[in-house]
Amino acid sequence: MSGPEASIPTHFPVTRESALARWREFLPKANRYGALRNQVVPGHPHVTRLSPAIRARLVSTEELVGSVLETHRFDAVEKLVQELVWRDYWKGWLELRPGVWSAYRAEAERLRTEGDPALLRRAEAVLAGEGGIAVMDGFTRELISTGYLHNHARMWWAGYWIHVERLPWALGADFFYRHLLDADPASNTLGWRWVAGLQTLGKAYLPRRSNLERYCASSLLADPTGLERLEDSVVSPAPLPDEAPAQRVAWRSLSESPDLSGGSPAGGGRWGLWVHGEDLGLEATALGRLRPEVLLSVFDAQRVGAHGLSPLRIAYLKTALADGVARAGRHFGCATVSCETGEGLAEALVRVAQERGLAGWVAMRPSVGPLGDAIPGIEAALAGDGRKILWCRRSWDERLWPQASAGFFGFWEKARRRLEPRSGRPARDGDPQQPGLPFP
Ligand SMILES: Cc1cc2nc3c(=O)[nH]c(=O)nc-3n(C[C@H](O)[C@H](O)[C@H](O)COP(=O)(O)OP(=O)(O)OC[C@H]3O[C@@H](n4cnc5c(N)ncnc54)[C@H](O)[C@@H]3O)c2cc1C
Repeated sequence: MSGPEASIPTHFPVTRESALARWREFLPKANRYGALRNQVVPGHPHVTRLSPAIRARLVSTEELVGSVLETHRFDAVEKLVQELVWRDYWKGWLELRPGVWSAYRAEAERLRTEGDPALLRRAEAVLAGEGGIAVMDGFTRELISTGYLHNHARMWWAGYWIHVERLPWALGADFFYRHLLDADPASNTLGWRWVAGLQTLGKAYLPRRSNLERYCASSLLADPTGLERLEDSVVSPAPLPDEAPAQRVAWRSLSESPDLSGGSPAGGGRWGLWVHGEDLGLEATALGRLRPEVLLSVFDAQRVGAHGLSPLRIAYLKTALADGVARAGRHFGCATVSCETGEGLAEALVRVAQERGLAGWVAMRPSVGPLGDAIPGIEAALAGDGRKILWCRRSWDERLWPQASAGFFGFWEKARRRLEPRSGRPARDGDPQQPGLPFP
């Protein structure tokens, strides 16, 4: 399973420096994004290709939104800003409805172990790139070999899986989750649910031949095998699976930063900073003021193994983590411990806290997903050892995510009203580092 040897295609930045270089290259043509972004062209020149870096927070949405609004008029780049913020909408939506994530994981597991054998055999053939529609089989191979698919190709492929092959969405989402370099519990699960018609009830996304012919590069359609199965008149929505309505939980607010005036959380003691793959830009947050005794990063082989992640995805996670830890090490100037063992996360956090005599850890709170699922175990293990973990959240997330209570366009309207006045104006001395946060 391991795989640092797997080599990540170079056009997906895996360090902060290379992500910023890609952004500088893309920024001058950001005003053409709205017109070109749906074109699926080999090499993906019309989109940023930054989603893996954004997912790991090698770069943050707020800094990208800030820089595009400083250099362009709002109406020229509205579509790009909207897409960047769409990610936050999905994050908030799932954070408010964590049961949707756990139900999806349970369903994928149930299907894998108890699913109808004929259905599983068909799923296996499609996942091996032998579904019989040449363009879709090409996308399957592209995902496996590069860890990326263009957004439009994700929509077509998910629509093909659900509405043409009539396979369960949860198994397709699991396939994406294992292979995408940017795999995100919110964007992936909710993207799949949207295509199935579960997210906006009754509005499924159907992959249609005419749409592929309009937006796909001709080289991708050179082999027309199987296209007749995507004829507009042939494809119809698959029946919706039965499921209970999503339950909303109350938003639990966290401050971005505990009181760090003395360089450590109030109450004193020696604290460590746990650096994990959900936020590899800690030095740029308010946590940058912390004076930790030690930085810890753990590559949790148990968790990765349980999710069956692809070698490419593992290589991306490890390389991005190493970049985040190296930057944090330079910023905080303290010792760094990097573990890559079979022991679990909670065990590593307890062990290193004992070895270093720490009162506990400070960390960004993982959002809903596999790392979020580990929170109760981590808290219990540390508390059982008389130690604590102090969770923080970026103010951008703290302000945007709770607003994802209903549909995207209401969310976007509020964000737009606050972001629009900032556009086209170069930064001035004294400007806040972050762009105006959408939402007070
Ligand atoms: C079935 C399905 C599964 C998906 N799974 C994921 C996933 O696991 N992780 C993930 O990051 N995105 C996912 N997306 C959303 C989208 O496809 C990717 O974010 C986008 O293709 C990434 O490429 P890019 O960085 O070049 O995007 P660009 O077009 O350059 O967009 C810039 C950024 O905006 C955000 N963004 C763009 N489109 C969307 C969108 N539709 N939803 C949410 N955010 C968006 C991303 O952060 C992206 O990096 C999924 C979409 C679908 C339909």
